[in-house]
Amino acid sequence: ATPLSIMTATGRGAQLGVLIKNAEALERFSKVDTLMFDKTGTLTEGKPKLVAVLPENGHDEAEVLRLAASLEKGSEHPLAEAIVNGAEERGVGLADASDFEAVTGKGVKGVVDGRAVALGNAKLLEELGIAGGHVSETANARRDEGETVMFVVLDGQVAGLVSVADPVKATTPDALKALHQLGFRIIMATGDNERTAKAVAGRLGIDEIRADVLPEDKARIIQELQGEGRKVAMAGDGVNDAPALAQADVGIAMGTGADVAIESAGFTLVKGDLDGVVRARKLALATMRNIK
Ligand code: ADP
Ligand code: MG
Repeated sequence: ATPLSIMTATGRGAQLGVLIKNAEALERFSKVDTLMFDKTGTLTEGKPKLVAVLPENGHDEAEVLRLAASLEKGSEHPLAEAIVNGAEERGVGLADASDFEAVTGKGVKGVVDGRAVALGNAKLLEELGIAGGHVSETANARRDEGETVMFVVLDGQVAGLVSVADPVKATTPDALKALHQLGFRIIMATGDNERTAKAVAGRLGIDEIRADVLPEDKARIIQELQGEGRKVAMAGDGVNDAPALAQADVGIAMGTGADVAIESAGFTLVKGDLDGVVRARKLALATMRNIK
């Protein structure tokens, strides 16, 4: 590659809100045929809001929210922020939690008011050996609306559900339409539940999803696609996405995301909007045409 063209492309990219790490990233991106998108914070705004607190088994709403939010004070996950903010907005006071423990891809555990509390998804219930029972059906109905539902467990029993919604970024639908038209195979990957994932993907016209994935799974899925001969770009925003961004032929980080994601990526979309992927592709193709 001639340095001048690459320099021109890098400068042009910066004007377009796309930071390009080096010539290799640009060249590799011109060959990509498959795009994998993380859901939370990449396709969606990543600022989930608490939309429902559903008590079960004789508990009340304020109590369930207090337990959940007290525990989540110790977590930096966007879901945790949604729950803590939701409690604040509803005037629910928090307790100090102890023995806090994050269970990656599943939820959080700890002690609140001297009682064992856990909060997370169905995998967490499974790990704790608790059956969701009829509460799982309530959870499914919310998931079909694209919400992320978490079980609140108190002393080994489900005390209720908390549900959060994370709106799709305004620029995502058009960007995906354009990327489909450019001929990419598009896959959404998420640690979120399959039903929630399907509801969100359905609204975006994405028909291929990998749900319930643990962070390390995202890198493995990319490796498998590469094994089938695909050239894969992965777009993600989180600390958890860094291994997948590194595994991909091209990593695309959201400028609004975690620093480690940005460091692992070949491209950074300054504003975190996916129309940057469309512009980056056009730039990559144009640059490679010039050089050849
Ligand atoms: P993603 O960013 O793709 O949603 P994560 O691995 O961060 O993936 O989270 C996967 C799932 O694990 C979440 O959808 C949620 O159900 C559960 N989870 C993770 N962290 C928390 C937390 N702090 N509180 C409650 N649930 C959590
Ligand atoms: Mg994310």
